[in-house]
Amino acid sequence: MFNINNPEIKFALDSVREAAQLVQTVQKESTKNALTKGDKSPVTVADFASQALVSYHLLQAFPDAVLVGEEASDVLKAEGAENLLAQVTGYVARFVPETEPATVCEWIDRGAADPAKRFWTLDPIDGTKGFIRGDQYAVALALIDDGQVQIGVLGCPNLGASGTLTVAVRGEGTWLTSIADFEKNDWKRIQVSPRAKPNEARLMRSFESGHTDVSKIDEFASALGSTAEPIRMDSQAKYAVLAAGEGEIILRLLSPKMPNYQEKIWDQAAGSLVLEEAGGKISDLYGKALDFSVGRKLINNRGVLATNGLLHDAALKALEKIGA
Ligand code: AMP
Ligand code: MG
Repeated sequence: MFNINNPEIKFALDSVREAAQLVQTVQKESTKNALTKGDKSPVTVADFASQALVSYHLLQAFPDAVLVGEEASDVLKAEGAENLLAQVTGYVARFVPETEPATVCEWIDRGAADPAKRFWTLDPIDGTKGFIRGDQYAVALALIDDGQVQIGVLGCPNLGASGTLTVAVRGEGTWLTSIADFEKNDWKRIQVSPRAKPNEARLMRSFESGHTDVSKIDEFASALGSTAEPIRMDSQAKYAVLAAGEGEIILRLLSPKMPNYQEKIWDQAAGSLVLEEAGGKISDLYGKALDFSVGRKLINNRGVLATNGLLHDAALKALEKIGA
């Protein structure tokens, strides 16, 4: 069992659980109006509030820690965004009563740091499109040291009956509890699936067709000999599912519209350790280990292949065969 009293693990679990509860509340109460960022991706009140809250807790627990987060407050500070900033402030204030608009922006912008030797990386809502649709999404937080993920936490409010919290600590396994029962401290160790036959592999892909190459996924499935329709799911919730043995392969092929897309570290860090500590394997499409030591993006990698381990070589061969 991992050490629940370790201050870094405790911070990661407490803050992801709170952020997951915050975004669940936004989902219940608010219209999910989204703004569009410069890269055309959507962002909501919940993305900003979640990053502000986790960043606040990090500042309290480890004032000198480095945070690399997805969001920045410029949109909130723009003219005409007062109402949006007020909404974000209101949600954060439910957990941190002294919150004010200016402090919300400061907390969010602590996430603009560059990766250091040891740093945290946060996706306050991974799968914002899934969040807006009411499907899967995740609050994803990871601690990286010397390019190696040491702690990974995924809060998935829409997985299971009442949302799940999955934590992996390097060398200590991957553990699962429900968000609602967090106080009970009732953790269950999880393991990847034992399926080793390619034809039995359950394949998972992004829900968004624009994030992948759908026709190549079909080619991959035939090359592997799997006949089942790939499961579509948003966000790193896919890694939590694979780690719990409910799937065998996650494939992130590059969209033909964005052939040079580079993965962001916060989209893969927490999920990668959650999967590895459950016995799985993760690499890029060529079998190369993900390199988290080179900045905010995985510039040394192309796409992602994640498996239960047993099917990794077969999946790499299938990728080679289809020329992915
Ligand atoms: P998923 O739901 O697994 O596709 O993961 C959601 C994440 O995909 C988002 O957080 C984005 O950072 C990332 N993303 C956005 N655009 C693309 C793209 N064209 N290709 C791959 N991933 C993308
Ligand atoms: Mg994301």
